[in-house]
Amino acid sequence: MPDPAATPSDPGPQPAPRQPSTRAITSGRGASGRSLAPALWASSVWESTDMTDARRRATGVRVDEFYSRYSNPTVRSFEDAMAELEGAEASLAFASGMGAISTVVLALCSQGDHIVAQRNLYSATLAFLQGPCARFGIDVTFVDGTEPGAFAAAVQPGRTMLALAETPSNPRLALVDLDELAALRGPITVVDSTFATPLGQQPLAHGIHLSLHSATKGIAGHNDATLGVVSGERDLLDAIWAYGVLHGATPSPFDALNALRGIRTLAVRTNHQNATALYLAEALERHPAVTAVHYPGLSSHPQHLLAKRQMRQFGTVFSLELAGGLPAVEHVLERVGLVRVATSLGGPETLICHPCTTTHASLTDREAAEQGVTPGLLRVSVGLEDAADLWADLQASLAGAPGAA
Ligand SMILES: *Cc1c(COP(=O)(O)O)cnc(C)c1O
Repeated sequence: MPDPAATPSDPGPQPAPRQPSTRAITSGRGASGRSLAPALWASSVWESTDMTDARRRATGVRVDEFYSRYSNPTVRSFEDAMAELEGAEASLAFASGMGAISTVVLALCSQGDHIVAQRNLYSATLAFLQGPCARFGIDVTFVDGTEPGAFAAAVQPGRTMLALAETPSNPRLALVDLDELAALRGPITVVDSTFATPLGQQPLAHGIHLSLHSATKGIAGHNDATLGVVSGERDLLDAIWAYGVLHGATPSPFDALNALRGIRTLAVRTNHQNATALYLAEALERHPAVTAVHYPGLSSHPQHLLAKRQMRQFGTVFSLELAGGLPAVEHVLERVGLVRVATSLGGPETLICHPCTTTHASLTDREAAEQGVTPGLLRVSVGLEDAADLWADLQASLAGAPGAA
């Protein structure tokens, strides 16, 4: 029944916004007609009706049905779903997480500009900031993102274009205070929120300008898509798009389709993975071969209170430190069975990797020490197996590890 007191300018009481898990089901259906499954628009090009229409499509911003490097209906559906989950005006997808990061940086920074970034970063992001950015004359100052005031102290008024954080960070699960980052005046603030998933934390709600993800990970969630996505205000994304269409890190519609399918089950998957991650992290913390477990959900995490403040869920990844260093790492990696030795994260299979010799092998010894990437550090991405089966596998592989207390 319409509310009789409502006037045309006052629509009356609005329904409460739906929960994210519901929006993961209802969003991103614009290009699929009456099909419940997303439609795959493999087309790279569309015909125009006449010259005016052709001109409009060629010169507009993010115009649909022109050419797939500009926009694609399947990709757009994925972007619409992401915008809903991130609480954003709009989202923009890329061919990979690195495609998103490199396009954002090169779209917004020019020679002579300055970036403040945290030191503890995904290794390819770090390599991009240290290599190509330095080559193009974009200066980067690295700070300890866990230290209050560190970002603000490094901002150079009028010169710092971006403040770039990754929280939780890879592989040590260190956090950056989102409220403090959002309070910076001057730079555009960018948060790589991959480890949290859009359901675990909402950087934009804290006032961060751009939230980005490697959707290759938990969002697509099945190890069958390589994809990145950035969310924020439409004007800012339009500016990034205008450069991105030239940069060409264009997402494949097939990967966008797989990611959209992944979004439908994101809530149940992350709930299960979060619960198992906490269970394993707590169990490992008590194991005599383990000296430390890094997981924001543990009360022993130095930023646990911050985690409780800014995260709805603590994530599906943790890392652990073995007392016996590299020999103990070798012992464990030779014995795991159900847990597979592989990089990446967020998929159905539980994976274990040794950052020091794989994802972070390019770090110098000093950088590795600064980031806490020690020889005894292992990173675990928790999958969808039964928690007790995973614990049995980890316990069996840790038995007899050198260095156990
Ligand atoms: C994987 C990852 C990236 C890079 O994403 P790709 O899809 O591999 O290009 C960036 N940031 C974080 C935190 C990641 O885990």
